[in-house]
Order: sequence, then C-alpha cells, then structure tokens
Amino acid sequence: MRGLYIGRFQPYHLGHQAVLEEISREVDEIVIVIGSAQESHDPEDPFTSGERMEMIYAALGKGELRKKCIVTTLQDINRNSLWVSHLQSMVPCFDLVYSNNPLVIRLFVEAGVEVKKPPLYQRDVYSGSAIRALMREGGDWERLVPPSVAEFIREIGGVERLCQVSRSDSAYSQDGAMYNSSMI
Ligand code: NAD
Repeated sequence: MRGLYIGRFQPYHLGHQAVLEEISREVDEIVIVIGSAQESHDPEDPFTSGERMEMIYAALGKGELRKKCIVTTLQDINRNSLWVSHLQSMVPCFDLVYSNNPLVIRLFVEAGVEVKKPPLYQRDVYSGSAIRALMREGGDWERLVPPSVAEFIREIGGVERLCQVSRSDSAYSQDGAMYNSSMI
C-alpha cells in the first residue's frame, strides 16, 4: 500500500515529521510531493524545491522512515479542476492521500481518491507561516523544526534570505548602490 503526502514544506517542520511517522505505521511506502515547486525567494515561499528536498532528506535520516519514502516535486497549475490529473501524470502511483488541506481534500475526493486526515500536531505552533514569522522577528524558530533542518537553513542563510525578500524597496534607498553575492 502506498500513501501520498503533499505539502509546500516552507519550511519542513516537526508537524510534518509527526504526520510522516504516523503515516509510516499504516502504509508500506510514502510518496512525499513537494508542491508549488516553482516558487522560491518569496515571503510565503522562501525556499526552492531543491532546498526543501534537502530539508526532507536531512530530517528523514537513514533509518526505516527514509527507506519507505520517495520524494518528488510538483509545480502548480492554475486550473484546480485539472490538478489531480496533473499530479497523477507526474508522480509515482499511490493508493490513498493523507492531507488536512481543505482544497487538496476536496479535489482528491471529487476525483474518487481515498483521503485520510492525519491528526494535527499543535497546528498553531507547528505551522510554516508561524515559523516564517518567528524567523522574521528573530524568534526561536529552531525548536519547531528537526535539528538537521535548522542546520541546513542556517547553512544556506535562509533566515537572511527570508528577511531580505520580505522587505519593501524603501529599505534599499541608497542611490546607485550596487549589490553582489558577497553583500546578501
Ligand atoms: P503545508 O506544508 O502547509 O502542509 C502540508 C500538509 O501537512 C497539509 O496536509 C497540512 O494540513 C499538514 N500539516 C501542516 N502542519 C501540520 C501539523 N502541525 N500537524 C499535522 N498536520 C500538519 O502544505 P500545503 O499548503 O497543504 O500544500 C498543498 C500543496 O498543493 C501546495 O503546494 C499547493 O499549491 C498545491 N495545490 C496546487 C493546486 C494547483 O496547482 N491548482 C491545487 C491544490 C493544491
């Protein structure tokens, strides 16, 4: 039996990890789909699909959970009514979907795919938007993600990127200032 779990994972956090551990007790394999793969460098979607994939592999480690998971990516399309077919044409076959996202649930149910809603783990705390807000405010976001994910985000300067892409252009008012990669 193969389950599918789709998310934006901006960033991957301990709520996602708890869901995956739960799912892994019910199915033989899990297809993890990194949605909105085309998005990055945006206040809502700071990380590239490749970076999100690295976060997930770092969090899965090398144990039993890792052996069960296939990680892939999927770009959005701007027609929700065709999205399930689009997804099915791009990812490995699956028997059922695990999601708590109302739109995702609706689209799969309408397409005749079985959907299970995994338990929510302190959704107000373990949430991508809450974690991104803590990152912008200098709060303690690291305790909400697996240690390996926190390390990866530090390595790529993820917090600095999120803060920079969240600023308005008035923060860059120096006339004629030139920027290069050593300044970001
Ligand atoms: P997300 O990373 O916010 O969440 C992923 C999953 O984890 C969801 O089911 C969510 O309910 C669950 N989750 C998050 N925190 C949790 C917690 N603390 N405890 C338990 N569960 C928790 O991602 P998302 O926004 O749900 O991702 C859906 C993806 O599907 C997006 O990329 C979206 O663009 C895509 N999508 C695209 C289309 C289209 O292209 N037309 C249509 C529908 C969905």
